Amino acid sequence: MSVPDWFAATWQSLATRLERGALPHALLICGDAGLGKRDLAKNLGAAALCERRRTDGFACGVCRACRLIAAGSHPDLVNITFELRDDGKPRSEIVIEQIRALSQRLSLSSQFGGLQVAVIDPADKMNHSACNALLKTLEEPTASTVIVLVSDHPARLPATIRSRCQRVEAPLPGLAQSKAWLLANGVPPALVDDALGAALGNPGLALRATGDDSLALREQCRTDLCLLGNGRRSALAVAEAWAADRPQQRLWHAAALVRDESLALASAGRGAFGLTGTHEIPKLAAWFAAANRSRELLQSPVRAELLLLDLLHAWPSPRST
Ligand SMILES: [Zn+2]
Repeated sequence: MSVPDWFAATWQSLATRLERGALPHALLICGDAGLGKRDLAKNLGAAALCERRRTDGFACGVCRACRLIAAGSHPDLVNITFELRDDGKPRSEIVIEQIRALSQRLSLSSQFGGLQVAVIDPADKMNHSACNALLKTLEEPTASTVIVLVSDHPARLPATIRSRCQRVEAPLPGLAQSKAWLLANGVPPALVDDALGAALGNPGLALRATGDDSLALREQCRTDLCLLGNGRRSALAVAEAWAADRPQQRLWHAAALVRDESLALASAGRGAFGLTGTHEIPKLAAWFAAANRSRELLQSPVRAELLLLDLLHAWPSPRST
C-alpha cells in the first residue's frame, strides 16, 4: 500500500498521529480530482484498523483486519457513497438514511475493539438533510471513531461541517514529481508533456488523458486555433465544429493550450500559435478566463455555437497584433 509521492509529508503526519492515538475525529481530504485523495483515505482507513502496522505507518496487508478490508467486510469500516436506487441505478446524492445508519453504527462500540472508521465520498454530494444529520454526529464525537470526508468541491459543503473537520489539502505536485509519477505509471515518455499540458499539470488527470482520446482531441483543438489565428479557418467554422462535438472538452483543451502558450511566451518569448512577446500574456489570460466561463455556461441551455463564436472571435490572433 502506498500513496502518491506528493502526499509523503501528509502521510507522515497522519501516520504519526495515528500511532500516538491522536488522529482527529473528523478529516476533510479535499483538492482537485486526480490527485489521489481516495488513495489517501483508503490507506488511512486501512492503517487505522490494521493489527500490525508497518513502521512507515501503512497497513500490513496480511493481518486478519487487512484481509477483511480487502474483502470489503471489515465490521469497523464503513464506506458511504452513492447507493443503488430500487431500479438498480445509482443515486446522484448521499441521503439521510445512510448518515443515520452510520451514526447509529458509530454510537456502538467497535467490533474488534479498536477504531471505527467511516469514509464519506463524495462528501459534497450529501444532500441537505444528510448534512444536517452528519453535523449532529460531528458535534457529539464518540470515542474511537474517525470520520473521513473526501471531496473534490469542499466549498459545496456547509461551513458548519467544514469547520468541524480537520482539513487535509491534496497538493498539486511540481512538474518533475508529476513527470516521474507518470513514467512510473507506464506513460510513454513522448506523451508525458502533452498529457500534463492537457491536464493543467494534474498528474492523475494526465494519466487518464493517455487512456482515452483526450490527446487527439487536444491536437485537433491546437490545429483549429492555429488555423483560426493565421486566417485559414473562420471563427464560425470552428465554432460550428466545436459545438457539434464535445464543446466542453474542447474548451478545456483550448484553455489548457492557452496556458501552455502563456508559459512559452514567458520563458521563450514565442509560442506555438505564432504569438511573440510577453505583452501578449494578459490577452491570453483574458481568453483563458473567458474560455472557462464559456465552459461553465455550456451547462446552461445556451446556444453553444453563439457562445463559441463569441469566444473564438476574441482569439488573440498573431495578425491582430
Ligand atoms: Zn494489517
